[in-house]
Amino acid sequence: MIINWFPGHMAKARRLIEDNLKVIDVVIELVDARIPLSSTNPMIAKLIGQKPSIVVLNKSDLADPECLKEWMAWYKQQGRLVIAMDSKGGKGVKQLTALAQQLAKPKLDHWKARGLKTRSVRTMILGIPNVGKSTLINKLSHRNVAKTADKPGETKGKQWVRIGNQLDLLDTPGVLWPKLEDQVSAYRLAATGAISDTVFDMETVMTQLITELSRWYPQALMTRYKLTELSDDPLVTIDMIGHKRGCIVAGGVVDLEKTYKLILKEFREGKIGPISLDRVAEMTEGAI
Ligand code: GDP
Repeated sequence: MIINWFPGHMAKARRLIEDNLKVIDVVIELVDARIPLSSTNPMIAKLIGQKPSIVVLNKSDLADPECLKEWMAWYKQQGRLVIAMDSKGGKGVKQLTALAQQLAKPKLDHWKARGLKTRSVRTMILGIPNVGKSTLINKLSHRNVAKTADKPGETKGKQWVRIGNQLDLLDTPGVLWPKLEDQVSAYRLAATGAISDTVFDMETVMTQLITELSRWYPQALMTRYKLTELSDDPLVTIDMIGHKRGCIVAGGVVDLEKTYKLILKEFREGKIGPISLDRVAEMTEGAI
């Protein structure tokens, strides 16, 4: 698998985030609900430090509801505040604002007691590419048209969006680099679209995806592609799907590239069904 995040990029991304975090009181970490662990960044805990934070399981509309429940429970068990979100549809947005507001309260009360009534609590969204950061910022900012002004001196050059009572969101998110060292995570990031199509080996990703779908969601896979059975060999299943969908080249041979693209597109759009790839049970198996 080719990796396009070079150490230089990572160092730059990290510096930028560290710099912005200096003025942040509450952190919102966005992960993909289908792959919460694969889409997190191992650096995140270190970056956040002692700041209050919320984990947002985004794209929850595309995730398996049972797995989502298990992940919510798992995060809570870890002592984390967690919310399921569909930032495209808007589900969970109100709840997020309320929770951030709740986390901000002790700080606001503290300032108030010291006579600093006008300060607002600042929050920022962190996450790997494509996890839905911009979509969420847009949803949150549409709720309140007025952008708060730059505060000279302290927050030079930064734009803030008011999202709650005395709560400001930095309008540029922190872009974390994806975790690519682990091959299982890397494939799942590729399958869900977190890594560009041009930087991974399609056959490896697709054989792994079909293997996992056949194991966990056989019925959904068969229903979607009108198959009466699945093969133990993922390439045979892909071949059957290619035939069913007419992805054929001269001589009646299946056009593999076309079939891969078709399945991947439908999987990413949730057309095969709500599907999760990371599973809580794997934590004990040490697979992630
Ligand atoms: P960013 O790179 O983290 O800023 O990600 P974007 O906000 O650009 O979102 C990446 C893609 O995911 C876009 O096509 C969004 O429409 C889509 N997206 C974002 N949030 C959700 C969500 O909650 N559900 C679904 N189904 N799609 C989402």
